[in-house]
Order: sequence, then C-alpha cells, then structure tokens
Amino acid sequence: MTQVIRASAELREKVATWKRSGMLVGVVPTMGALHDGHMSLVRAARKQSDRVIVTIFVNPMQFNNADDLSKYPRDEAHDLALLEAEGVDVLFAPGVDEVYPDGFATKVSVSGISEPLEGAFRPGHFDGVATVVSKLFGMTQAGRAFFGEKDWQQLQVVKRLVADLNIPVRIIGCPTIREEDGLAMSSRNVRLSPEDRARAPQLHAQMQAAAEAIRTGTPVDTALEAAKAALQTAGFGAWDYLELRSAEGLRPLTSLSEPARMLAAVMLGDVRMIDNIAV
Ligand code: AMP
Repeated sequence: MTQVIRASAELREKVATWKRSGMLVGVVPTMGALHDGHMSLVRAARKQSDRVIVTIFVNPMQFNNADDLSKYPRDEAHDLALLEAEGVDVLFAPGVDEVYPDGFATKVSVSGISEPLEGAFRPGHFDGVATVVSKLFGMTQAGRAFFGEKDWQQLQVVKRLVADLNIPVRIIGCPTIREEDGLAMSSRNVRLSPEDRARAPQLHAQMQAAAEAIRTGTPVDTALEAAKAALQTAGFGAWDYLELRSAEGLRPLTSLSEPARMLAAVMLGDVRMIDNIAV
C-alpha cells in the first residue's frame, strides 16, 4: 500500500521511524501526470533505497507562464495507482499552502549554471525549482534523490545546489526514457494535437543527425542550422535554442573539445518541447 501524506509534519515522523531502523530513504520529486520516464526514476529509487517517497507538487513558483500552469495535466488517482504497482512507500502530495504558507519569504537562487538556456527563456524558473527542491529535501530528509536527464540543466542546477548548501543527499541522474519513435516522454506531450504528435519525433531525429554530423567533422554551427531548418520545414514553430554546450558546466562549445551535450527548446503548436542528448 502506498500511503498518501499531505502534511510535512506527518512525513517527517514517518521518515524518522525509518531512519531510526537504519533505512536509506530515496525520493523522486515530480509534478505528477506520471509516465514511464517518471517510473524509471521510481524503479531506480526502489533498487537503490530501502524506502521510496515520490513527491507530486505542481510548483507554481517555477512556472513563468500562467497558462502553462493552468493547463498542466493533473490526475492524482491515476498516478497513485502507478505508484502502488511499483511498491512506492509514500506519495507525498502537499497542497500549495503546505509548501508556501503565509509569510513564506525565502528564495533559493543558483547563479551561473541556471542562467543560460532555460534560465534565459524562462525567467525565474530555476529559482522556483531550486527553492522547491531545497524544501523537498528538507521535508523528506531523503539520502538519495533521483532526477531525469530529460531536464539536463535542472539536474546540473540541483547538483550545484546540494554541493553549495551541504545538503546531505546524493543526486542520481537517470537516462531519458523515450517513446518508440524517439520522442522524449513528457507530461506535456498529451497536449500535442495528433498532427503535432506525428511531427514531434523529428526533434530527436534531427538532433541525432546533427550530433552525428558534428562527430564526423561538420562545423557545429552548420550542423545546428541544418537541424533547425529541417524542423522548421517539418512544421515546428519558434526556437528558443538549439546549442552545443559542455556537459556539466554548460559553457558554449564551438567544437567537440570536451564531453558535450546538445540541448534544444522549440515550440510545437502551443507546447514548448525540450530535449537533450550526449554528443
Ligand atoms: P516533472 O514531473 O516533469 O517535473 O519531472 C519529474 C522528474 O522526472 C524530473 O527529474 C524529470 O527530469 C524526470 N523525467 C521527466 N520526463 C522524463 C523522461 N522522459 N525520462 C527520464 N526522466 C524524466
């Protein structure tokens, strides 16, 4: 049975009991509308911890767009059934008032790594992420936390945050889970029209083609411009970015001089898609 907890005081008691008997607690922070990508994190947590907490909280502070927040898919009953099936111990699903009670006044802001890419196009987004993740670590007291590489920059921001603030949690990054056609699983994919859903796998396909071109000597800019043009032709909308960056520091790269990541954000219909791959 997965126990649903909404109050952090109750969660703290539960976790304290586990910890007294020497158990290692793992947490998987999510915004719900769970899919196989999330469940892969849950399975990793199950393997690498004695007790597993999944959190579901659609964090208003990390949405820079009110429409995106109001349209964010929510289905807690369905999510709970999935978590039950994976043997998750606790679903922690606090309300907004539990996380941000009256008088809440603190903001966690990670500079540097959170400034380019998503940070540039979604002002305040990573402050919201860093703040809520800090709170979730405080509330769950977990020793391990599982994050998806799907949100590569977020993973780097969270690693920086726990190192800088000496938060006693080990961050474990898990590979991006994709549909058979290559589309990275995302809760927002359900908002794609059937036509756009059919176009969507092109994003990953063109990124892979560009990565291969770069590996075989095509100049980075040429490869990225070709991918952008192909996606424009395929019916994608405005670009936020398609870039080659150093994998950990996210510094811009003009050649494959160190481990690299290609990261993209582009509109498809009214859905903003992000993806990233190793190069
Ligand atoms: P979200 O609910 O979108 O905030 O995501 C919660 C966690 O699941 C984050 O660590 C994401 O990076 C991770 N995640 C989302 N989609 C995927 C995916 N397709 N594969 C792996 N992890 C994912």
